[in-house]
Amino acid sequence: MSERYFVERPISSGRVTLAGDEFRHLAAVMRAGPGDEVTLFDGSGAEFAARVVQIGKREAELEIACRRERSRELPFPLTLAVALPKGERQKWLVEKMTELGVTRLVPLVTERGVAQPTDAALARLRRGVIEASKQCGRNVLMEIVEPIEARVLFAAPASAAVRLIADPSGDVPLKAMPAAMPSTGLIAAVGPEGGFADDELAAARRAGWQAVSLGPRMLRVETAAIALAAVFAVPN
Ligand code: SAH
Repeated sequence: MSERYFVERPISSGRVTLAGDEFRHLAAVMRAGPGDEVTLFDGSGAEFAARVVQIGKREAELEIACRRERSRELPFPLTLAVALPKGERQKWLVEKMTELGVTRLVPLVTERGVAQPTDAALARLRRGVIEASKQCGRNVLMEIVEPIEARVLFAAPASAAVRLIADPSGDVPLKAMPAAMPSTGLIAAVGPEGGFADDELAAARRAGWQAVSLGPRMLRVETAAIALAAVFAVPN
């Protein structure tokens, strides 16, 4: 895979200009020059072979050679709703969710949660999705939606997706889940370090969410999220 760069605007044919972070990566980090071949993607699901035409002070110009349809997405939509941990662990979680192919990340606001991402934090996390997608070859960006209260999520009308809530005292072992996911997909919720509050758990169960156990050890938020995503995302 040649070095990959993300372009904000939809790419068509002809020439594309790289600016900002992507320009710095190309010019300052990779020290690319005219004639170098790279791969561009715009989040549409395709990737584009391109050649550097010119490197300026703040922008680079590239010529598109061809468009390739390369889906590296999961065969079903996978949503993780997570009470995000703090700082570096939050960033790390987003990277791993992106690599594993998670379709959508829902930051959960819970009774015992501490970190409620600000707009600036969300923007940083979305930038993290781009970085991870450049590295892992995804041509569709994992979506990070606006934070939502756990009780609101649990009270939402039942969707066709399989709905799981990770709970150390859950009664459904993950192994009991169907190996092939329905095309309507799956949504899994992970609580904060302090755990979901009893009324949150009760609301989820009442609404038909299945409480799944990930084993007898207490996992960190990000470990629980990775374990859940990996079980469903990695082909067996
Ligand atoms: N002190 C909390 C633990 C929270 S761990 C408690 O006693 O519940 C943070 C979140 O990770 C939990 O809310 C749960 O969603 C998930 N989690 C951690 N370990 C788990 C396990 N063994 N089984 C299921 N979910 C787990």
